[in-house]
Formats: sequence, structure tokens, C-alpha cells
Amino acid sequence: MYSPEQQQTLTELTKKILSDAEYGIHQVPVQFAEQLRELIRFHEWRYYIMNDPLISDYEYDVLYKKLQETEQEHPDLIIADSPTQRISPDISTGQETVSHLTPMLSLANSYDLNDLIEFDNQIRKLAGIDPAKKIEYCVEPKYDGGSIAIVFENDSLIRAATRGDGQNGEDISNNILALKSVPRKVAFSDHNIVKAELRGEALIRKDQFEKINAEREEEGLSRFANPRNAATGGLRTKDPRETADRKIEVFVYQLGFAVDSNHNDVLQTIPTHDEGIELLGQLGFKIPVNERKVCHGIHEVEEFCQLWQKQRDSFDYEIDGMVIKVNDRKIQELCGYTSHHPRWAIAFKFQAKQATSRLEHVEFQVGKMGSVTPVAKVTPVSLAGVTVSSISLHNEEFIQSRDIRLGDMVLLERAGDVIPYIVKSLADVRKGDEVPIIFPENCPSCNTRLVRVEGEAAWRCINEKCHEKIIQRLIFHASKDAMDIEGLGESLIRKFYDLGWIKDMADIYTLDYEDISKLDGFGKKSAENLRKAIETAKKNPIHRFLHSLSIHHLGKKASKLLAGQIDNVMDLKEWPIERYLAIKDIGPKVAKNTRTFFTNSENVELLERIQSAGVNFLSTNEDKPTIGREDTLLSGKTILFTGTLSTMGRKEAEKLAENAGAKNLGAVSSNLNILVTGENAGSKLEKAKKLGTVEILTEQQFLELINN
Ligand SMILES: [Zn+2]
Repeated sequence: MYSPEQQQTLTELTKKILSDAEYGIHQVPVQFAEQLRELIRFHEWRYYIMNDPLISDYEYDVLYKKLQETEQEHPDLIIADSPTQRISPDISTGQETVSHLTPMLSLANSYDLNDLIEFDNQIRKLAGIDPAKKIEYCVEPKYDGGSIAIVFENDSLIRAATRGDGQNGEDISNNILALKSVPRKVAFSDHNIVKAELRGEALIRKDQFEKINAEREEEGLSRFANPRNAATGGLRTKDPRETADRKIEVFVYQLGFAVDSNHNDVLQTIPTHDEGIELLGQLGFKIPVNERKVCHGIHEVEEFCQLWQKQRDSFDYEIDGMVIKVNDRKIQELCGYTSHHPRWAIAFKFQAKQATSRLEHVEFQVGKMGSVTPVAKVTPVSLAGVTVSSISLHNEEFIQSRDIRLGDMVLLERAGDVIPYIVKSLADVRKGDEVPIIFPENCPSCNTRLVRVEGEAAWRCINEKCHEKIIQRLIFHASKDAMDIEGLGESLIRKFYDLGWIKDMADIYTLDYEDISKLDGFGKKSAENLRKAIETAKKNPIHRFLHSLSIHHLGKKASKLLAGQIDNVMDLKEWPIERYLAIKDIGPKVAKNTRTFFTNSENVELLERIQSAGVNFLSTNEDKPTIGREDTLLSGKTILFTGTLSTMGRKEAEKLAENAGAKNLGAVSSNLNILVTGENAGSKLEKAKKLGTVEILTEQQFLELINN
């Protein structure tokens, strides 16, 4: 799309604009706006399509803001296809519609052995198969995510679309391109295939789903009801980074269309469905493996379906049934299609995990960030093997959008081992005495008036002295995700708080174990165990400690990024906002909140008390960025050493660069980002200077960069 020369010119212009704050002042506005638009488009291409950005998110934002400002000053310069005009907050308005190469049909359903036997008999009739002969079926999971179709041409991914109505779907190519579980370059040509359409399912692992929801709650966003919603929503977002962040995975389960250069059907040469899937696996796609089986006869099919119905909860992904396909392609052809579904395939649906119960009352719980969460107390009901009596209602919006009232009968669902949730209230069976749920105006713990920050779903208590908020923070501080203090759970923290022994985080590290051993239900032994657990926690890596501070938006990931950049927790006292923002993937909210925390004198005093109680504040090996990680210093950069280095050997230098995330190159080319020059650097230095796009460093500068 961009020639190397064009890229070089655009890169130079980018450097100029980013390094010279006054650059725009000397330009004619109409030309400056056009330059910025061209640069933004170029860097979006590098980021989204090439997955290989040349500038940081922060630098991108600088360019974007410059364009916004220029356009605001000169509104007549705004054109419809300006990058500033494209981003719309409304993600429900569809993307472009495209037609599938072959229709994506749905499947007929079956629920028990009788249905399956009927299906088997039907196949025999349609294909003229002897009743004594067992038919081969390929059985695989019915993934509960979003169905997609991916088209490859000349070995490249050229398009991806949602299922849509089966004939036409939404073009989601950019989002699918952002996913690491989908290869973009595939050697179809080795199999004589020039154009192919694959069917697959986009999914989110159950554990990843819980992580996403935990992060969303931390950020004051509403939770996703289930992994399917999170996946299908992620497929259709307008920001491919969001799709990638949700760690959506795509399982491919059918080669739906494949032709050679003469448009001849290549599928004919693959005799069975199972071999088709195997081929896709060999080509580098994610395919069902242990959860797929070729069964001989319908009874073996039923056994395999029942087995998966039993073990679905322990599977990493949501599945709501199994799909049974006639394995032999010739028999498939004999069976043919109805207008809705193939006659040679059927879904076996698992029993739904739903129940109804009455909503008795609602409790409002205060979280560590002060957000107030409504929790529904329902009449205890058995749901897929567990008794459910308490379910989060997330926030006010959730309640209102579903019109959930006190006294309502509600429909509950539990998918896999995901936390149960309320699907809806059953308005049809209302008796008339149901009443709306009134959200409190004041904090249930400290009675401070609640506030709602624009753009967030949660109402918050902003009183820093709120008892419940302090207790929740202490609970979080000691929890598995943070300092991981074994044995110091909620009940103990509440007890110590009530006794006045723990009033803040520092108190945890100076407990009097003599007093504790005299408590009811305690003894020398349990007091000693607690002491040991707390002593162990004192040695934690600092990323755990940073996370444990309950700084709003500073989650696990951001804590690790930050920990990788400092030697001592107290370094952050001196950090200006720019240093936070210079870290890739640290956003303005985290930067601002962390900076505010570390410049507040009360917090600094608290930190000093924690430090003098013996909690580790120094960076440990675990805090150092690991090799090849995206967030490292030279991540994604290419580097080359030339000349004689004075302080280290070539190999050693290359290792250092690699540890910082760089890739070592063997020669100077337009792909090279950094050239490090030692003594007597010769032709390589000349060549790099000529190219003009290579950053040239001395050995000393390289070492400074690495040690920074
Ligand atoms: Zn409060």
C-alpha cells in the first residue's frame, strides 16, 4: 500500500512535527491539515493493518490532537473523510455489509437419542445406505460465540465477516486481522487452493472473560453478561485494539469453499470432513482437537455427546452442544440441503442451565473504589448443581434496562462455571405488588452523597474516610491478586479493623502477634502462621505492591508495566506525568491517578510507614520486563551493531538488545531502526546515513538507553 520511499518520507515528516512544537505555525493551515491527515492514515495503517506501529500511542495522539485543533480553528477545513470524522462512539451502527461466498446455514436441533436415531435413518434414506452399515460421523463442539467467515485469496487473508443473516454479514476484516489466533498468510497454494472461505467461531476463554469483567468493574464500566456477548461485541467494535485486548480466539471448523486457479472445486479432492479440518490445523489454524471425534454409528455419537454434556463445565470455552456431521463428503452431497440447513448435519443441544426465582430484596455493597453495587437476594434456587441466593445486578443502568423490580420472578442463567446472572425479569407473571428498585442517594456505609462520574456506569462514594471503602481496600491489599497474604481474609480484616488493630495498610505489617494469639479461636500456632504469611508477603515483587494500593485504573497489567520502569517504589514521587505517558499502554487516566497518589503527602507518609515496616520497595527480577514482551524498551525495533565495541563483545551486545525486545539484523536495509556504532564503523554507517531513517547511536548512548 505504501512504497518504502513513501514510508520514509512520511516517517521523516512525523519526526519533524513531533520534535518541533512550532512546526504547524509556519505552515498554511490547509496544507498542514492535509499533512496531518496523511500521517494519521499512514500510522493507522502501520498500527492496525501491519500490526507494526512506528510511533507510540502517545505520539499518535499528539498528531491526532494537532489535527483536531487545526480543524477546530478552521472549521472550513474539515472534510468528510478526515480521520477525526470517522470515529463514532456508536458501535451498534453496522460496518459495511458483504455477501458470503456460500451461505452460512443454520443447523437443525436434536435433544436426545431418539432425535439422533431419526437423523441417522433420514441419512440412510437420502443416501441409500444399508441399515446394517454404520455411518461415520464427525462430532465436534458447538461453540457458544460469534460465527464468522474468513476468505483467503492467494494465501492472504482478504476478508472476514460476521454470520449476519447467513447470506450477508458485516465486514470485520480489520478486527480479525488484529487477532493473533488467526494467521494472515497461509500456504493454501501448497494444496492447489487459490481462494477459500473458512467457517469458524470467535470465542473468549472463560478465565479471560472473568479477567475482562474484573478490569471493567475496576474502570467503572458495566460487566458483560457472558463470554458470548463479550466476544460478539468485540468482533464488531470499531477499534481493532479493543478486539485484540479481549483476547478473542478463533476456532476454525469448516472449509466451506475452495477453488483452484481454474475455479474448479478443490473440496472434491478432500474425501472427508475430518480430513478437511486436519488440513486447516496443518495450515496453522486453531481447530478442535481432543473435543473432536470420528464416531462409527449413531450410538457412539450419542455417547460422545453425553460425555461432553457432563464435562462441559471443565472445558476452557463455552459450548452449548455438539455438532454432528456426516464425515464422507460423497454422502453429504447425496443428502443435500434444505433452504435453512444442510441435511447431513445436526446440532445436539445440551440442557439449558436456567432457573427462575423470586427477587426478595436488594443489598447495596460499597467497593474499594467506592462504587456502589446492587446485589439481588433471591429465594435460594438450585442452578446447574449449585444453590444460588445472591446475584450481582451490576449497576443502576442494568436494573433499568431490564426493568427488574422487587418481588419480580427473574430468569437466572449459569453458563459453564461463569458466575450466574439475571437474564430478565418475567413481567408476564407480575401480580401488581412489585415495586421499582430505588438506588440510594447516599453511601450505605458513611452516608456521604454518592456521585456519578460522566461516562461511568457506577455511583461512587468519594469519602476517603468511608469505613467500608477502607475495609474493602484492606481486603484487596491482602488478596491473592495483590499481596497474597494467606489467611488474612475478609473476616479477619473486619475483626482487626473493629478492634482498631488495622486502620490502614501499614498496620498490617506491625501487628502484635502476642495479642492475636490471645484472641478467641486463635492460638500461638495460628498467630505464628499469620506472622509467617505476612513476612513472606513483605518480600513480594513491587508490581504486586503497586497493584495492592487500589489506585483507580491501575490494574495488574499497568502495575507490571510501571514496575518494569522503576528501581524503587518511591521513585514515583518524582515522576512527572510525561514519564507515565511515555510508557506504551499506560493511558492518561492511569497516569493521572498514579501521579496524584504519589504526590499526595498523606499517601507518601503511609508509604514511608509501610517501607519502614520492612515491605520490599526495590525492583526484583520478577519486575523486570521479560524477553520479547511487547512493552519492553526496544520492543519491535530492529537493531544492528557495527565497528569494534569497547565495553562488550558483539554477542553480548546483541543479547542485551534482544532482552530489551529488539530484533538483531545482519545488514543495513530500510527495515533497520537503530544502528549502534563502535570504533572504525565503516560502510554500514555510511549506508545508514544515506537511508536517513536509521537512528544512529554510539555504544555509550545504547548503554544509557538500555540502563534507563
Ligand atoms: Zn461511604
